[in-house]
Amino acid sequence: MALQVNLADFEMARTLGCGSFGRVKYAKYKQDGKFYAVKFMKKHEIIKLKQVDHINNEKRLMAQISYPFVVNMMGYAKDDHFVYIVMESINGGELFTHLRRARKFSDDQSKFYTLQVGAAFAHIHGKNIIHRDLKPENILLSPNGYSKLTDFGFAKIIEPGTRTYTLCGTPEYIAPEVLLNKGHGKPVDWWTLGILAYEMICGQPPFCDEDPMGIYQKILAGKVYFPKYFDKNAKALVKKLLMADLSKRYGNLKDGSADILGNKWFSTLDLKKLEAYEIPAPYKPTMKDDQDTSNFEEIPDSKELPPTVPASQDPFVDW
Ligand code: AMP
Repeated sequence: MALQVNLADFEMARTLGCGSFGRVKYAKYKQDGKFYAVKFMKKHEIIKLKQVDHINNEKRLMAQISYPFVVNMMGYAKDDHFVYIVMESINGGELFTHLRRARKFSDDQSKFYTLQVGAAFAHIHGKNIIHRDLKPENILLSPNGYSKLTDFGFAKIIEPGTRTYTLCGTPEYIAPEVLLNKGHGKPVDWWTLGILAYEMICGQPPFCDEDPMGIYQKILAGKVYFPKYFDKNAKALVKKLLMADLSKRYGNLKDGSADILGNKWFSTLDLKKLEAYEIPAPYKPTMKDDQDTSNFEEIPDSKELPPTVPASQDPFVDW
């Protein structure tokens, strides 16, 4: 369970990464001597960009989730400058870094992460939560080689049968129904899973262009090129995920997520064993020890303090 924590109990160390409203720092919790990841988010900036609801959602929704393939939240805090989310620290680095280094992943490695992210989506959808921002930067690798989904900054509760309309996501990962502003729901996450699987297998997403408008045109045209080395079961699944027609997209049919998690491509993996970390990972990040954070890019430290938000104007009432 996520609790309100006292920030004075943390010794801040290096920056692990940057998000839209501030950085994520590696920090030692004095109470248990363990390391956590603390996400700093500038209140003033969140208010200026009208993102208060999104950030309140991020904290509220993340606190409801406890699953092996989702980053676990430990607590939250606030002061005059920032709101903070304290999470378990996943020290193997972003899947993005490993993918760019390797250029592309083997079929075994690609299916290993695709099944974990798919299972994470099935789990959060079971709570009517949609993530809406899948990309290789938002998947972190544990020292044991397993992956965890992070960044619930665009996550939202979606009641069955309802839709939402905010345009969000990364250009290459945006689903056609989001571009067309038709209203969207859980199927957007399944679309992004298809993009991710393709990007891991080929080293680049299926719809690419230097200009975002060019990407959007390709997404709407919907033509996907599959190179010869693409496994035939992987191809069949990706095609079913990248269906513009929602009545045909996997994840959105009568059997729901079972069409994906029980897919032939995953027949070599047992999800129950995977959830118990009983299957050896096909790849482990190179690390000196579990506390080694060298797989994260170096980011210079900053001591700059953003403007304060006076208590009388603070919209973060639940923190
Ligand atoms: P976010 O704004 O949540 O996407 O976080 C920005 C970046 O900080 C991520 O892309 C990661 O590089 C890093 N990061 C976020 N959460 C964690 C975590 N729990 N453990 C380690 N690094 C993290």
